[in-house]
Amino acid sequence: PSTVTEYDTIAAISTPPGEGGISIVRVSGDQAFSIVKKVFKGKDLEKVASHTINYGHIVDPTTNDLVDEVMVSVMHAPKTFTREDVIEVNTHGGIVPTNKVLQLIIGAGARMAEPGEFTKRAFLNGRIDLTQAESVMDLIRAKTDKAMQVAVNQLDGNLEHLISSLRQEILDVLAQVEVNIDYPEYDTEQMTTKMLLEKAKTVGASIDELLKTADSGEILQHGLATAIIGKPNVGKSSLLNRLLDEDKAIVTDVAGTTRDVVEQYVNIDGIPLKLIDTAGIRDTEDKVEKIGVERSKKAIDSADLIILVLDSSRKLEEEDIQLLDATSDKRRIVIFNKNDLMPELHPVEVSQLKSDDIILITSAIKNDGIEQIKDTIGKLFNAGIEDSSSDVIITSARQAGLLRQAKQSLNDVISGIEAGMPIDLVQIDMTTCWDKLGEITGDSYPDELITQLFSQFCLGK
Ligand code: GDP
Ligand code: ZN
Repeated sequence: PSTVTEYDTIAAISTPPGEGGISIVRVSGDQAFSIVKKVFKGKDLEKVASHTINYGHIVDPTTNDLVDEVMVSVMHAPKTFTREDVIEVNTHGGIVPTNKVLQLIIGAGARMAEPGEFTKRAFLNGRIDLTQAESVMDLIRAKTDKAMQVAVNQLDGNLEHLISSLRQEILDVLAQVEVNIDYPEYDTEQMTTKMLLEKAKTVGASIDELLKTADSGEILQHGLATAIIGKPNVGKSSLLNRLLDEDKAIVTDVAGTTRDVVEQYVNIDGIPLKLIDTAGIRDTEDKVEKIGVERSKKAIDSADLIILVLDSSRKLEEEDIQLLDATSDKRRIVIFNKNDLMPELHPVEVSQLKSDDIILITSAIKNDGIEQIKDTIGKLFNAGIEDSSSDVIITSARQAGLLRQAKQSLNDVISGIEAGMPIDLVQIDMTTCWDKLGEITGDSYPDELITQLFSQFCLGK
């Protein structure tokens, strides 16, 4: 829809909380200019030209006190973020004056915006589709340049264009089916089923290509949860330091001192790894160490990737075996560290290793094999993207889920035709696919979904 629906006027602080050079209070809605005008001393905001920045002061209208010296951007609908009239007040930063400015604007008649409400309006007013709205969220949260690039591409509407063209193809074939049904005298049944079958296959193939990117896209946005585990003193902290390239984890000679779980993002060639450093799993009477052990087990459960470190200068011990067993059903990299010392442990001697384990031999002390760890992680991650011919990457679980449902209804089309089901039933499955694809871009969407989706945003966006 291109018409602007009537909404009340909302306001929020749009810059991140904390002390900054400038903070921005954003106001959107058809009362935006008249409301801010009540607390602004300077040019008449209702008369200044659109897309201008105006110097002045925010004053408390009840006391006439000056609150802040500000620059006010005035932007007329529809060429704005929300497609409504928008004002952005650039305050001098600091929590107190910025909050005070917001309070005065609320007092003058605006309503406090809910999280994501500005973006929600941009969507409801037809400026962006749902995939673009999601990419706004991705952009805000992007942890690496690569993640940001993917979000920017989506913001450009690349995914939306692809989905829309798939939907158009489905619509075309459904229209053709309709025509054929209307002229049964031409005995077009066979032609119609053939057409549906072919379309189900080609659209299905495009969806498959997209889905191949979903795992990587998810990781790109949320990080690959990685647990570095191993009994005390095998070199976990040292390896982590090498991966981080700075001394963020504390390395010590005392067994079991890494008691606090450190969670940190590390950028490996654009891939955000969410690293969880834990104390090793071990049987112990020590209370503090026990907390570490329990956390280690939790870390294993929540990790997508395990980096299990063994000390190749020592024989395999009970604790190593416990860890190997506890992680046997996980995707894991097993590291034989301390290869600069006399070897006492070889991979061939470790019967607990599985054929799909990735085995690396390193020395944290000599900085040997660290690049290999990074390369390995990069390859694990990039596999899906490189396999796919799609240049669009699926970054949200919501999008991936809907694509899977769309694919399922295409499979139903194919099996229905093969089972000789009547065309009008097959047609329904094809229409379901069209609907599911539409939910991705927000062309057919339930209200609760919209509310839930936008509530994940931060305030002021
Ligand atoms: P963690 O308890 O598993 O985190 O192990 P640390 O990283 O704290 O290391 C324990 C001890 O092993 C420290 O004295 C490290 O300097 C030493 N260390 C770690 N990696 C290596 C390595 O590759 N070679 C040698 N020789 N010592 C290492
Ligand atoms: Zn450690």
